[in-house]
Amino acid sequence: MLRFTLFGIPIVVEPWFWLTMAFLGGGLNALQRNYPGDYLGVVLFMMAGFVSVLVHELGHALTGSKRGGGQVWIRLWALGGLAYQQGGRLDRKNRCLMILAGPGAGLLLAVVSIACLFVIFPAPEALLRLQYYLKYTNIFHQDMVSIFPDNRPIYGFLNSLIWVNVWWSLLNLIPIFPLDGGQFMEQIIKSRKKMHQIGMIAGAGCMLLLLSMGSIFGLVIFGFLTYQNYQSYRQASS
Ligand SMILES: [Zn+2]
Repeated sequence: MLRFTLFGIPIVVEPWFWLTMAFLGGGLNALQRNYPGDYLGVVLFMMAGFVSVLVHELGHALTGSKRGGGQVWIRLWALGGLAYQQGGRLDRKNRCLMILAGPGAGLLLAVVSIACLFVIFPAPEALLRLQYYLKYTNIFHQDMVSIFPDNRPIYGFLNSLIWVNVWWSLLNLIPIFPLDGGQFMEQIIKSRKKMHQIGMIAGAGCMLLLLSMGSIFGLVIFGFLTYQNYQSYRQASS
């Protein structure tokens, strides 16, 4: 278990977090193919995932403590990250701000990473790289190596940073409880029944999209979230 403090906020990183990041970064593929470059890509993805989830949670935690006080801390675990706040007081407006600050911080990091790409490469190459970086998580993938033969670890890190912060921040904003988008919805919609109804519809839409993309892992996650919203919807109706 890794423990440290950043900006006065205690942070705990559980071992499961690294396993999840390795899996999402294509660790199983790398083991199967046993091609040395794949492993480097997985490690770079794990590092970028760590930085990104931390920045996202710091967005929540720092906004929470600044706006509402109390004790905040962060835990990175198997399913990503969580920012806790205890003893603070937040009105609805500030709670909304705290919820949006997570994906907001992620999107900001995405913009900074994309800007780095345009600083390193001339615009046409930066644009082409951005296109591929949004599609693949591993710069050392065969398709990538044939197009960009001069790949370096720092580019791989940027690749994962851009992929994670664009896609995860956007996914998090989908109005499905308990994603950030769902938590934001909880603040502005009074009826829990309606809130979970929206969650079910959005969840089903995401499942269809993920199915068409062939993402089994994403399908399982959104299937679970949709089912959870269905159960909460039934509870709220009874
Ligand atoms: Zn969040």
